[in-house]
Amino acid sequence: MISFARRRLDPFLPPFLRRLAQSIFRKYYNMGDCIFCKIVSGEINADIVYKDEHVTAFRDIHPVAPTHILIIPNRHIHSVGTLTEADETIAGKLLLTARKLAEQEGIAEKGFRVIANTGVDGGQTVFHLHVHLIGGQHMQHPMG
Ligand code: AMP
Repeated sequence: MISFARRRLDPFLPPFLRRLAQSIFRKYYNMGDCIFCKIVSGEINADIVYKDEHVTAFRDIHPVAPTHILIIPNRHIHSVGTLTEADETIAGKLLLTARKLAEQEGIAEKGFRVIANTGVDGGQTVFHLHVHLIGGQHMQHPMG
């Protein structure tokens, strides 16, 4: 809805108003163009390994380890940085799904890594909340 309004209104807004709208609606602004929303809706194909009413999990297109799965909320949430108390359940489901998929992938016993890159400095490149489930090899240290 916001994305639709943005596409219709943006061309008519003077630059200062466009910037103001962008800063106010930052966390919703790119929803209509969000690649992960399109994977949830089926508009874009992905190697989906799990899906329920709350979350979708699919293999990363550029895996960094034998197992590299992204777990995302079906509803658009920008990042860990925009989570609120109302998102407590979905935040828990992301981690629980990571644990279940680690078992399904056979990496639970030896260990795995769960990462949520957040914001530009955190290395986030897709602004739809996701956790990376990475495993199947010994992880390198240090991070960062
Ligand atoms: P991040 O850098 O933490 O935002 O992670 C985004 C991840 O999404 C990267 O590891 C990408 O390889 C992955 N990615 C981007 N587009 C797709 C896609 N269409 N299907 C699967 N993984 C994707």
